[in-house]
Amino acid sequence: MSLLEVRGVRKSFDDLEVLRGVDLDVPSGALVAVLGPSGCGKTTLLRVIAGFERAGAGTVSVGGRLLTAPPGTHVAPEKRRIAVVPQEGALFPHLTVADNVAYGLRRRDPRRGRRVSELLELVGLEGYERRMPAELSGGQQQRVALARALAPEPQVVLLDEPFSALDAALRASVRADVRAALRATGATGFLVTHDQEEALSTADVVAVMRDGVVVQAGTPEQVYRAPHDLDVARFVGEAVVLAATVAGGVARTPLGELRPAPGCVDGSGTLVVRPEQVHLVACDVGVPARVVDTVFYGHDASVLLEVDGEGGAPLPVLCRLQGDLPVTERVGLRVDGPVSWF
Ligand code: ATP
Repeated sequence: MSLLEVRGVRKSFDDLEVLRGVDLDVPSGALVAVLGPSGCGKTTLLRVIAGFERAGAGTVSVGGRLLTAPPGTHVAPEKRRIAVVPQEGALFPHLTVADNVAYGLRRRDPRRGRRVSELLELVGLEGYERRMPAELSGGQQQRVALARALAPEPQVVLLDEPFSALDAALRASVRADVRAALRATGATGFLVTHDQEEALSTADVVAVMRDGVVVQAGTPEQVYRAPHDLDVARFVGEAVVLAATVAGGVARTPLGELRPAPGCVDGSGTLVVRPEQVHLVACDVGVPARVVDTVFYGHDASVLLEVDGEGGAPLPVLCRLQGDLPVTERVGLRVDGPVSWF
C-alpha cells in the first residue's frame, strides 16, 4: 500500500512551470530514488512534499492524511511527520553529536538519552556522543544528520543528494548504512539524486523525472530493462543505440538479427542494447568488429568496438568484458537477450 501519494502536483516560479503534473506512489517502508537531470524539478518536488513550497495544484498525502491540496490545505512542515536530510551542512556546529540528534526530541522525554544512543548505534556511531560536528568526517556528519532526522520517528525521510559531497568509496558505505537504517526504522525514504548508479543500487523504486514530470516509476530492474522511452534508456545506464527494422518479431540491425522485447510491432525504429548484453566471441562466429579502446575498471572492463555499418559509418559499441582483455584487434560480437525497442 502506498504511504506517500503525490497526485498531479504543479508548481511555478513566476512564469516558469517547474512541476507540470507529478504523480508518484511510494509504498510504505520503501526507498524511492527520484532520478533526473539537473533542473528537472527534483528538489522542488522534495520541497513541496516537505511543505517548504506551496504547490499550485495537485495533492500530497502521507498515510491517507492530506497535507497539500491547494488552495485550502497546506499543513505546516513541522506538522507533517516528514524529516529532511539536506546535501550537507545539516548539523548545528555549536552542538555536540548527541545534542544534534536529540534536537527534535522533547526536552522532558525520559527516553531521550537512550533514544540518542540507539540512533547513533543504528548509524554506526556509538561512542561519538560528545564529539563536535567539526571533529567528524563528511560521511560521519551525514550519518549524524540521518540519526537526527530519524529521532522524532518521521513517517517519511526526504534526502536531497545527501551523498554528493562524499568521495566515491565513502559514498557507497554511507549509502548502504542509510538504506539499512531506513529499513530498520520502517521509515519511507525519498532520495533525490542525479546519479543513476546510486538510484539503481540504493532504491526499491526508481522514479525518473524529466521536465517537471515523472516519466517512469518502477523497480530498478524494470526501469533499466524496460525503459519507457529512449531518453530514459540513455539516462538510466549506458545504452548502445541502433537503427533497426523489425519484421515478424525479428529485428535486423548492424549487430545482426536481434530479438526485441515483447509487444514490438513491425516497422523501423530504434533499439537499445545494454553493454552487458554484448559478448565478445571469435570473429568468424560473431559480427566482425574492431577494438578501438578498452577501459579497465578492475572488476570488469569496457571495450569500445567499431562494427562495420551496412555501408554507413562505423558503429561504436560499448560492451562489458568479463575475463581477459582482447589481445587481437579483430573480434566478433554476439548480443544476448531481448532488447528494448522504440
Ligand atoms: P539539481 O539536480 O541541479 O539540483 P533539480 O532537478 O533539483 O536540479 P530544481 O532545484 O527543482 O531542479 O529546480 C528546477 C527549476 O526551478 C530550475 O530551473 C530552477 O532554477 C528553478 N527554481 C528552483 N527554485 C526556484 C525558486 N525559489 N525561484 C525561482 N526558480 C526556482
